[in-house]
Amino acid sequence: MNIELQCCALFIVFTISVMFLREKKLDLMNRRLFFRAICACVACLSFDILSVILITLTFYDGFNPVITSFVCKIYIMLLVLQGYFGYVYASTSLLPVDKKWAKYLKLFFHMTFGIGEILMLVLPIKYMANGRIVYSYGLSTLVAYILSAIYILSTIITTVAYRKQMPGRRLVAMLLWQGLWLLAAVIQFMFPSLLLVGFASAFGMVILYIQLENPSEYYDGSTGLFTTNALSAYVHDQYKFGRRFSMFTAKIHFLTNYVDYNMEHDAVIRTARALVALGPEPAFRIDDDTFCVLYEDEDRMFKMAADIKRQKDGVRDIPAKGTYLLIPDSLIMSGPDEFFRFLHTYLESEQEIVVADEALVEGMRNQMKTKKMVEEALLEDRVEVYYQPFYNFVTERFDVAEALVRIRLENGELVSPDRFISMAEENGQIISLGKKIFEKVCIMLSKKEVEKAGLNRIEVNLSAAQFDHENPETFVLEYMEQYGVSPEQINLEITETAAAQNREIMIDNMNALIEKGVSFALDDFGTGRSNIDYFVNMPVKVIKFDQSFTRGFFDNEKMRYVLAGMIDIFHKMGMAIVAEGIETGEQVEAMKQMGVEYIQGYYFSKPLPEDELLQFLHSHNT
Ligand code: C2E
Ligand code: MG
Ligand code: MG
Repeated sequence: MNIELQCCALFIVFTISVMFLREKKLDLMNRRLFFRAICACVACLSFDILSVILITLTFYDGFNPVITSFVCKIYIMLLVLQGYFGYVYASTSLLPVDKKWAKYLKLFFHMTFGIGEILMLVLPIKYMANGRIVYSYGLSTLVAYILSAIYILSTIITTVAYRKQMPGRRLVAMLLWQGLWLLAAVIQFMFPSLLLVGFASAFGMVILYIQLENPSEYYDGSTGLFTTNALSAYVHDQYKFGRRFSMFTAKIHFLTNYVDYNMEHDAVIRTARALVALGPEPAFRIDDDTFCVLYEDEDRMFKMAADIKRQKDGVRDIPAKGTYLLIPDSLIMSGPDEFFRFLHTYLESEQEIVVADEALVEGMRNQMKTKKMVEEALLEDRVEVYYQPFYNFVTERFDVAEALVRIRLENGELVSPDRFISMAEENGQIISLGKKIFEKVCIMLSKKEVEKAGLNRIEVNLSAAQFDHENPETFVLEYMEQYGVSPEQINLEITETAAAQNREIMIDNMNALIEKGVSFALDDFGTGRSNIDYFVNMPVKVIKFDQSFTRGFFDNEKMRYVLAGMIDIFHKMGMAIVAEGIETGEQVEAMKQMGVEYIQGYYFSKPLPEDELLQFLHSHNT
């Protein structure tokens, strides 16, 4: 009898289903659909074998033909079911859930399937046995062929149409599975003695299992917890079907370098065990040192989180601390992308415990918006530099100006640096932004117009973060050379935000520029960011008093002594002083009395675009 291939196939699929059933369960749509497909495959193969046996028996031993017809029909009905499940497996994760047409399409496939099954049951079926050639035919079988072809082709079309939504591996696996099946069906149709369809479907299951649904995708080898892939699939499912969940995440920070690999590994294993022991809820290892547990409701999550934290606090033998991120309600995030971005953003936060609420999510959205705004402004050349002139008491002219960046929105609106500089410093955009600003300043100076109008120097702000990422010396010198700007025309303003360990590098970089003739100013003095050590060791020529510090003059007598003392110290150190934020004549007078060299403030001028600066200089410096 011609059943060797099918028996072999049955054995393979059976083995896969046993392995699959023995795995720890996470309720994932794909896993459920895969299991359904496997069950259909087992049933189909069993009836395939049974039908071949019964057809042979009927032909050669006079077995009851009615029973044989019935079994043959069940076989082809199961064959169609398998094709249908294949289509459902592919389309469920790909087709949108909220679109009307997708709903109609789903309904159409449901209906064709239902009607097809009824037709196959009621239409006549015939069968044939001639040695090893055993097959069924007739209207019922024809319906099966047509429907199977529809399902296989639909699966292939859907997969190809949505190929961008899935990883390459998934695409290849899906196409291989369905392609083999189609090929086998065509061969079997042409050579009825080659009963390949059953085997091909079993082979397809092997491909799916190995490539897409195998345990290493979903289980972490060393801890047995679920993996990031499993979490990703779960989160996508939950959002897709509008179900909420709560999540507790813990990240272990090993506090000293002396924690070696074994200790770390041991800590990870212990954490994993503790999480599993806590309850039936699924626990994940989503990074080397990051774990999370999913809960159906937030009350239970808060209770368990408290337990976990208590346990962790009880561990004293490892120098580690945890960052805990609690997400009571997943639905405050708009979807999986935002969910994972949130996770990524706040797991890095300095706080020990973060509880996700609307405000945090909103904060993250704003950050994303700002990042995009800066990105687009850089691309579309909408970064603008404004200039605020300083009045020099010594020369009685406006001979210095500070370059202050702005972003011009598409609608013409101007965005102030307070809204994007600190974020750009955090996300690294300050590097390209800083270069752009410096280039624009150099271009402006290269025209020599402001120079002719009496301006000797431009102050350009540099963030400490710019020293962290890259040595600004390179671009500063490059642009100055490219645009023929001499170093004396540039004064770089820095603030004390650099961490102590970066400070040395920063000072080295500053000295390298100073050697080339560029000078530095210390910005925002008196805001608490600067200490004595800072200005004593910083190679700066100019100190800029922050407006809050200058205004202390009018607050009380003690502050006046402090101001006078500081000014005296700086002058003895050979530094010049700029008073920032001067808005009234009274303030100008006070600063003049105190011996400050430069005044920067709205009293004289707000930051101006290039052409207005030029006009200002022409009318005030002559
Ligand atoms: P900053 O460097 O201390 O700049 C002085 C700020 O004080 C400017 O704000 C200026 O417009 C404002 N200001 C000047 N005079 C007065 C006044 O009389 N009254 C008041 N209330 N404010 C006055 P702006 O332009 O909004 O810049 C804010 C901060 O953004 C700057 O503070 C600086 O830290 C940063 N920034 C601006 N441009 C750049 C840049 O090109 N690169 C970097 N890294 N940071 C920049
Ligand atoms: Mg400044
Ligand atoms: Mg300042």
